[in-house]
Amino acid sequence: MPSIPLTLENFEEIANCSESQKSAIDEISKGFEVNKTKFNEIVNHFRNEMKKGLEMRGQTVAMVPSYVTGVPTGKEVGTFLALDLGGTNLRVCLIKFESEGNMSIKQQKYTISETYKTGEARQLFDFLANCIDKFLAELDETDYKGSSRKGGKLNLGFTFSFPVEQTAIDKGTLISWTKGFTCVNAVGKDVVFMLQEALNRKEVPVKVAALVNDTVGTLLAHAYKYPNTLLGVILGTGTNCAYFEKISNIKKLQSSSNAEHMIINLEWGAFDNEKKVLPITMFDNKLDRESNNPRLQIFEKLVSGMYLGEITRNILLNLIDRELIFDGISSKDLNTHYSVETAYLSTIESDDTDTLENARKILEEELNIPSTTLTDRQIVKRVCQIVGLRSAILSSAALSAIITQCNVIKTGCDIGIDGSLFEFYPSFEARIKSAFREHFGTNADNFKLGLARDGSGVGAALAAMLTTAK
Ligand code: ADP
Ligand code: MG
Repeated sequence: MPSIPLTLENFEEIANCSESQKSAIDEISKGFEVNKTKFNEIVNHFRNEMKKGLEMRGQTVAMVPSYVTGVPTGKEVGTFLALDLGGTNLRVCLIKFESEGNMSIKQQKYTISETYKTGEARQLFDFLANCIDKFLAELDETDYKGSSRKGGKLNLGFTFSFPVEQTAIDKGTLISWTKGFTCVNAVGKDVVFMLQEALNRKEVPVKVAALVNDTVGTLLAHAYKYPNTLLGVILGTGTNCAYFEKISNIKKLQSSSNAEHMIINLEWGAFDNEKKVLPITMFDNKLDRESNNPRLQIFEKLVSGMYLGEITRNILLNLIDRELIFDGISSKDLNTHYSVETAYLSTIESDDTDTLENARKILEEELNIPSTTLTDRQIVKRVCQIVGLRSAILSSAALSAIITQCNVIKTGCDIGIDGSLFEFYPSFEARIKSAFREHFGTNADNFKLGLARDGSGVGAALAAMLTTAK
């Protein structure tokens, strides 16, 4: 069987590698491998799951209708607020659309503390309202003069990047938390209502006009600049995707809309929760079992930034216990859950020094491993490559399934991608493209991946504009 995509890259030789180290690495690589047959199997299963999700509610890949049917033309003008609740950061933005795809943005980032992530929902939403209030207080009134107002209020697009069952552009109930959030009294409730109530309690003059998933926001923002955009993707703390689907294909939707297309938020993080086709290893199972959402978000756990470091940590601990690296000695830091950041993998993978000096610094100075040899560091680098490559290939397989569903293999499309994993992980884009080339041949050149940095915020403002313009 031809063994693509893992052979898409020729990893460098590891110096002074013993037989037992070599066979351990080969065995681990094997578990992470996605060869051509596996890739096709994943694409086919993904397409079936998409179909099921379009037909019925409550499927593994939820295929959530966004109620966004309009496409920005790049000609829109106006001033809107956006609130973007991702997995790690909270952003409040004021966006002025100035036509011709041009816009100006003022934004403020806030970090969400563990207390808010895991406490009472009301506290989290009060915190969100506080951030908006503070942000507005720091603006000049001229900043939002001439903005579209409803009842004298600024319109806000709310990017809420968790699974939501949406019933209208400004209504959606939380299905479940992901990415480490566990707030009580939120699941089953309308998140727009909760935010609006919090704003009203503080008398902040803001109307929540549209609720969008970050994927939907990213898609809209990218489409504002590149009208040929059909997909919006997140590769950050979590991972997910939205795309334009024909309304006639969304069998479960009872809609009187006479629009032709609607954006669907796939919620692809849950793909293969049944663990039927994905290349799942014992390292992934360990992570899943110890996570706060076991047996859920399985695709996300193999792909997204929140988890790649932890998978790597699990592999390193296994190699340590077999006395194959670091003389069998770990550290308190490395023994701590989630101590290996995905940004470390980026640094280690891009370390081109002869002695892997940057990798040494991370291992010895950040993670406090007493001492490492060059061979150790080369093995660690290989482990990062194995984990990073699988993530990119699986993203590519899911994208291939959607591209096929959209029937645009020949005609092509633009794909807007937001998230630090895509932005900073070395070769992430190149790896997605290599796998596209293996799958689509020369047609792969028809797909243009573009970074839609912070697109999720801009897109939420666009959604607010598209709905209030009606
Ligand atoms: P959010 O998902 O909250 O919108 P980001 O898109 O910035 O935020 O993603 C943050 C995540 O990206 C972090 O949790 C981390 O996993 C990952 N990340 C951050 N920096 C890097 C980096 N240099 N290389 C790879 N991944 C990174
Ligand atoms: Mg984000």
